[in-house]
Amino acid sequence: MSRQGKQGGADAGASGGEVWVWLPRGRDQELAPAAAEVLYEGGALARRLGAALAAYSGPAPTEADARWLAGWGVSVVRSLGRDLPPHPVCLGGRSLLAPLLPVPPNFPPNFPPRAVLFSADTFGKVTAPLLAAELDAPYVAGASGLTLDGGRFVASRATLGERFEAVCRLDAGRPVVVTLLPGAVGESPRPPRIAADTTPPLQLETLPFTGAAGGTAPLLPPDPATLDLADAERIVAFGRGAFSEEAVNMVRALARALGAVVAGSRPAADEGWLPFSRQIGLTGAIVRPKLYVAVGISGAPYHMVGVKEPETLIAINNDPEAPIHAHAHLSLIGDLRQLVPALTRRVEQAGGAPPAALAGGDRTQARTP
Ligand SMILES: Cc1cc2nc3c(=O)[nH]c(=O)nc-3n(C[C@H](O)[C@H](O)[C@H](O)COP(=O)(O)OP(=O)(O)OC[C@H]3O[C@@H](n4cnc5c(N)ncnc54)[C@H](O)[C@@H]3O)c2cc1C
Repeated sequence: MSRQGKQGGADAGASGGEVWVWLPRGRDQELAPAAAEVLYEGGALARRLGAALAAYSGPAPTEADARWLAGWGVSVVRSLGRDLPPHPVCLGGRSLLAPLLPVPPNFPPNFPPRAVLFSADTFGKVTAPLLAAELDAPYVAGASGLTLDGGRFVASRATLGERFEAVCRLDAGRPVVVTLLPGAVGESPRPPRIAADTTPPLQLETLPFTGAAGGTAPLLPPDPATLDLADAERIVAFGRGAFSEEAVNMVRALARALGAVVAGSRPAADEGWLPFSRQIGLTGAIVRPKLYVAVGISGAPYHMVGVKEPETLIAINNDPEAPIHAHAHLSLIGDLRQLVPALTRRVEQAGGAPPAALAGGDRTQARTP
């Protein structure tokens, strides 16, 4: 969806009310990069509706987060005063947020919201449809955008194996609940107002939240074999340089040691080494992992466009001139058949963590003799 045309003022239709945005967080409870996307889309919609933008959060925002949220035009942050699990446990078919919903006839003035936006991460996928049922609102899953056209919401979403785009037109006179596909808004959007002195004051509220928040249930770590690439915090991806059974087995062993998802470049999918759902790049998935290990991948622009700001990128490649090294925090230059097993051993010795010397920070190169 184009970013132009989203900056305009209030569209036709009744103005007022609130657009709610649920702030996605990672396992460490830091705001996830997808927060910028839901704020971008939710903020544009709120301006068109002449509505206020309200953000909902598990923990209260830090001071820096609050300034950033004000820059997005958020007028109020309502936090639940506690961390919420990224994989919520829903009890009795009720959404985790059900305890927040007022019971008729005691509706406050800004209830119900005009629209509620979640990121289509695991939390959003579980919570949004249940909340939609609780609000008696239509639900659009995995939308690439939500805007307003006259008196109607317009949500677009890929369908039929992503070969077609479905456009859902919904009466804007009643609330709608949407999950937004991570990456759909494009390159990391930035807040429209960034100077602190031009941002309006931000109201911070803590809600008297009585929900179970799934906190009492034991959380099993996700299975890398079935985890969505978009949710993966660690990815080991391989390309043409690793196209042999021996090398792919080495890649899988490294991924197992790291608890990472195995993915690959387009040739890896085209040539049958991986299912297409595990392809990263322009015509594949867009990922935002903390750790990305690229094994035998050259780092072509069409691949790298799908790899968004990993905290640590380790490149294993025998060509010192390969473009992947320009993106890497650590370049291991040499034959992957030597380097991958060596790295796997170091990870195993470190109990599954990438050795500290390999994590983030300055760019480093190491070569095999
Ligand atoms: C419209 C369009 C869309 C595209 N979409 C995508 C997309 O979504 N995703 C994507 O990935 N690509 C996409 N491509 C293709 C893209 O341009 C590149 O061709 C592709 O990413 C290259 O894949 P690769 O890195 O696996 O292979 P290569 O470019 O062939 O790189 C292989 C690398 O392995 C290294 N190597 C070889 N042997 C060893 C060894 N023994 N040890 C260590 N290193 C070794 C080589 O030095 C080389 O750098 C698209 C192209 C087009 C035109």
